[in-house]
Amino acid sequence: MRFDILTIFPEFFGALPDQGILGHGVVSRALRTGLASAHVHDLRSFTHDRHRTVDDRPFGGGEGMVLKPQPIFECLESLAIAPRPARDGSRETVILLSAQGKPFKQSTARRLAALDRVVLICGRYEGVDERVSQLLCDEELSIGDYVLSGGELAAAIVVDATVRLLPGVLGHADSSRYESFGEGDAQDLEEERKGRASGGGGTDASADVQAPPRSTNASNGLLDYPHYTRPAEFLGVSVPEPLGSGDHQAIRRWRRQAALAKTLANRADLLSGADLTDDDREFLATLGYRRGD
Ligand code: SAM
Repeated sequence: MRFDILTIFPEFFGALPDQGILGHGVVSRALRTGLASAHVHDLRSFTHDRHRTVDDRPFGGGEGMVLKPQPIFECLESLAIAPRPARDGSRETVILLSAQGKPFKQSTARRLAALDRVVLICGRYEGVDERVSQLLCDEELSIGDYVLSGGELAAAIVVDATVRLLPGVLGHADSSRYESFGEGDAQDLEEERKGRASGGGGTDASADVQAPPRSTNASNGLLDYPHYTRPAEFLGVSVPEPLGSGDHQAIRRWRRQAALAKTLANRADLLSGADLTDDDREFLATLGYRRGD
């Protein structure tokens, strides 16, 4: 999978794959091993004046400067990216990072991870001439309800969240399914339900209750559960007892309930869309939650 990042601050990304904000951990490894590639393009290289001007004053007056459309159009032309109508149906997308964009979510990252090429346009100053969005971009994405000084951090976030979903990037294929905002257990719960309907039995939230618990298995709309490592006691706080018990079912049950409690505490809004079992609902009721709260 290929990323193209258009920016007036290419140094932000360093000398990929080893430097800059994408030069670390699993993303850097994916870039080094060719599972993904990221190409950074300096918009000033597509200007034609002595000062390499990329911005100009806004029509209508007002604060700040606006990124001109022409360097962006020329940059995309040099990358053989066609304007929008000619691109429809292809496995590439052009994205403008913008505070006015649609929210970038894990589901967005999953959708992008299925494409061959993602082009990310980083704004600066007051933003980007609107014709870039109108004529070139398939979508505008925002990484959250706040205003950054530029799109570079947002682009790095989109690349990071997407690259780690590509096959082969994470050590274990299931890692990205069974984590916060993952889609793992929704499918498992469905399989389990089918198993029950055909007399297969089973009461746990996972398809195979005998199997060792996955390192993470909250998902299906819940946040991940809390994680612990050695020492078993730290500053007087012990690791929850089931985690050291070796009892797979007890571990799974504790993790599920801890994920429910964490989601209720930090993101109760997610519970209304989560795939909850009767046991989940009973447990949540003990914490004072009822669906619709
Ligand atoms: N005038 C714009 C507004 O009020 O929406 C803010 C422009 S901001 C200072 C400059 C650039 O930072 C934007 O063009 C965009 O590329 C990027 N940016 C700022 N906030 C962002 C966000 N929440 N998500 C994605 N990109 C963002």
